[in-house]
Amino acid sequence: MFGRLPGIIFTILFFFDSILLNADLHSHSTISDGLLTPTELTRRVSELAVDLFALTDHDDLRGLAEARNEADRLGLRFINGVEISVTWETTTLHVLGLNVDPENAVLNDGLAVVREGRTKRAQLMAEDLARVGIQGCLEGAHKYATNKEMIGRTHFARYLVDSGVVNDVRSAFKHYLVRGKPGYVKHQWPDLADAIRWIHEAGGTAVIAHPGRYGLGANPMRRLLGQFRDLGGEGLEVVTGNHTSDQMRHYAGHAKNFGFAASRGSDYHGPGESYSLPGKLPPLPDGLRPVWELWD
Ligand code: AMP
Ligand code: MN
Ligand code: MN
Ligand code: MN
Repeated sequence: MFGRLPGIIFTILFFFDSILLNADLHSHSTISDGLLTPTELTRRVSELAVDLFALTDHDDLRGLAEARNEADRLGLRFINGVEISVTWETTTLHVLGLNVDPENAVLNDGLAVVREGRTKRAQLMAEDLARVGIQGCLEGAHKYATNKEMIGRTHFARYLVDSGVVNDVRSAFKHYLVRGKPGYVKHQWPDLADAIRWIHEAGGTAVIAHPGRYGLGANPMRRLLGQFRDLGGEGLEVVTGNHTSDQMRHYAGHAKNFGFAASRGSDYHGPGESYSLPGKLPPLPDGLRPVWELWD
């Protein structure tokens, strides 16, 4: 009886350690549309008492080495990540690749093609904005993009704010840059199957980011989750700065029903541009398998 006690205690401690771990597995640096460099971001995350941190820039892996260096220096556990833009049916989705090998050629080649698509889209966005009298947006957006090969709508939004067209980034998205507004350009991102394949080729775990953000009805959401599971997708981001507490409960239910591991991440983009600070979200709801347990 007592012989088994240390093992049982270890199991209980391990269980609580894993559940209570302050994991933040979704964030952005200046390599995509975040405001802090990978080093600055990693320092900020470390100050906020995060135990396990992933940098997940949009469609680019080039911030990971710098962030890992700083995390190692600070004694912070670091996970290599990426957030891949995908077109599923007619909806743009974001799929997180967590614990990927940043040197993997298949993943790098796939992301290079996505970034070329972004560059072409940016040109068309600027032409569309010029048609409503807002000139110079391509050059303008580029001023806010540290990484010239990873241009996104947020860089345009920052230019629209700083040139006085709108008061803040949120209004830039509300009045421009979204479907039906000037500056919105319909775009074909890679297939869900391709993104998952690249992530798996790189040894990573595929997680659907902020499922509550896509405006999908109950049936399309179930269809998406079923297809994602059939394609080998492993996880669902349940706790995110983009979800209300109702949505966290709702997607916790989906994670259980579909057998997905659950992830937690702030989607931090920098001071003043995010709903949630790193490490400050509620813990994962009970009864879920944390995605980080897949990597032990
Ligand atoms: P893109 O991948 O270039 O189409 O840009 C998507 C990014 O724009 C997201 O990752 C967010 O950072 C940002 N974004 C999208 N919608 C909004 C919004 N309504 N308000 C602020 N930022 C937004
Ligand atoms: Mn973003
Ligand atoms: Mn996203
Ligand atoms: Mn994100």
